[in-house]
Amino acid sequence: MTTRTGNLILIGMIGGAILGVLGGLYLGEFMLHLSFLGTIFLNALKMVVIPLVVASMIIGVTSLGDIRTLGRTGMKTLAYYLFTTGCSVLIGLILVNIIQPGVGVELWETTLPDMVAESQGKTIVDVIIGLVPSNVIQAAADGSILPLIVFSLLFGGVLSAIGEKGKPVIAVFDGINTAMMKIVNIIILFAPIGVMALVGAIVAEKRDSIDQLVSGLGMYSLTVVLGLILHAFIVLPLLLHFLGRQNPWRYFLNVGEALATAFTTASSSATLPITVEAVTEKNNIDNRAASFVLPLGATINMDGTALYEAVAAMFIAQIFGIELTIGQQVIIFLTATLASIGAAAIPHAGMVMMVTVLAAVKLPLEGIGLIFAIDWFLDRCRTTVNVWGDTVGAAVIAETREMKTTA
Ligand code: ASP
Repeated sequence: MTTRTGNLILIGMIGGAILGVLGGLYLGEFMLHLSFLGTIFLNALKMVVIPLVVASMIIGVTSLGDIRTLGRTGMKTLAYYLFTTGCSVLIGLILVNIIQPGVGVELWETTLPDMVAESQGKTIVDVIIGLVPSNVIQAAADGSILPLIVFSLLFGGVLSAIGEKGKPVIAVFDGINTAMMKIVNIIILFAPIGVMALVGAIVAEKRDSIDQLVSGLGMYSLTVVLGLILHAFIVLPLLLHFLGRQNPWRYFLNVGEALATAFTTASSSATLPITVEAVTEKNNIDNRAASFVLPLGATINMDGTALYEAVAAMFIAQIFGIELTIGQQVIIFLTATLASIGAAAIPHAGMVMMVTVLAAVKLPLEGIGLIFAIDWFLDRCRTTVNVWGDTVGAAVIAETREMKTTA
């Protein structure tokens, strides 16, 4: 796709979002009828995710060469994920302690959202067990990306190790990868319409909760959004500049389509095809780094979600008038980081993971009911930062010694 077409599409997506907001506010019913257009766009994106993740992980692993390079790149990638996630939780904790959005807010009657109630009792051991799929096809059918990544890493590694016999198989996956990217290029052409329909439907549906954004939950939303802005516009650009050697502003504009899609879909995984396209084709990041860092990042690197978990937990404690010690805040820091790693890359997953953070410091689970009303908005904001963090990670890893010396 040419830069000109890319820019036109980005402008189209922004225009689509504005039309969607206006349509949702003033033509509610009509926008709800148009929502099927958004569903088609979303389905089209999801359609390519599974083949893309498998093919791109296999190509990423096989193109890295020997197992030591793979190991070192893997360690650096994980270190990047943990470092940036840690920074964002810290920003969240500092802000929530300064702003204290929950102090003085009156408790109101709530019920625990169904999806949260259902996930209660899930432990970290269940998450670890889930990493190894008992049936790869089932994992693909369920859209469980993490077990598929584990399988693809193993499969790719073994394909490299068996030499000549592996080569034709690698070539097939290389072809699949290229074909998927071409399909993504076609889907992107429909992004402005998809964005308009998705934004229009959500605004029409949630019109009534918009005043919550400015009333009881206003300071809380502001704290989350302010934290996300600081992380996205200060921490990540600094890393991008110094470690990724990129011009942050240009890089940001080039991934604009992915960020706009993240905001509209609230799903890092549905956005993944566009993220890969923006990073490799528009920002020209080494495909070996991108094909490895992006799928993994979409599922485990969630800076925005981690920040949100920490702020939300502290907000709930403040509303219930529970004073948390520094030690308990350290536990929130750790569990928020873990929860963001464990959260699936789908809408509201971060809110569901709040169960583990709250349980760790014995805060009342009903607190989740309090913040549910505006999760549709904060989910979009944090997903955008999650995806931005992944794209920066791809640039940083592309500049590592391993990538440079094996190029
Ligand atoms: N929706 C987010 C994502 O896909 C996860 C979350 O709910 O925090 O990145």
